[in-house]
Amino acid sequence: MWADVTVLSEKASVELVRRLNYFPSNVNVFACLQCGKCTSGCTVMVLMENFPHKVVDMVRLGLVPELLKSDVIWACTQCQKCRDACPQKVNPSEVFIVLRNISIIGGGSVPDTYTSMLSKVLEYGFIQDAIEIVGSDSLTYDRLKLGLSQLNGPKDMDTFQANCMDAFQRGA
Ligand code: SF4
Ligand code: SF4
Repeated sequence: MWADVTVLSEKASVELVRRLNYFPSNVNVFACLQCGKCTSGCTVMVLMENFPHKVVDMVRLGLVPELLKSDVIWACTQCQKCRDACPQKVNPSEVFIVLRNISIIGGGSVPDTYTSMLSKVLEYGFIQDAIEIVGSDSLTYDRLKLGLSQLNGPKDMDTFQANCMDAFQRGA
């Protein structure tokens, strides 16, 4: 027997729209045609349990609590491919941001991988130091051997860190 999601959706959508209004967002999930163009080019499509078009559909059905319980809202890389592909200007990438904000405001926590990346950026200026790679000839190459310039972190680390913290606090 199918649950009557229509009634649930109407109530939940009103609540969702109220919450969406808190954010400087141009999201309009109700304009989605479910064409799937966002999903066809999504960078993390193979990793995500719910693809962008499905997330958009779940949001307008009011299934936000289900999404907030899932790691899917943190999988998006914000590459913006879905925004560019969407014929309806729904901007699924922004939907993920809103869902993350709702999660944090509701007491959720940022996954460890994010905080660890952030600490590395603050400490070194990079998410990850340059690594060596093994070529098809089984030899190991670093940037120098590949003819690439060395990566240099910020010249003034104190200013860089202060600017980062300022941006984080402003939500930039
Ligand atoms: S591309 Fe836009 S209209 Fe198409 S499914 Fe994705 S969000 Fe909906
Ligand atoms: S912004 Fe997120 S949802 Fe959109 S294509 Fe990139 S990874 Fe996928």
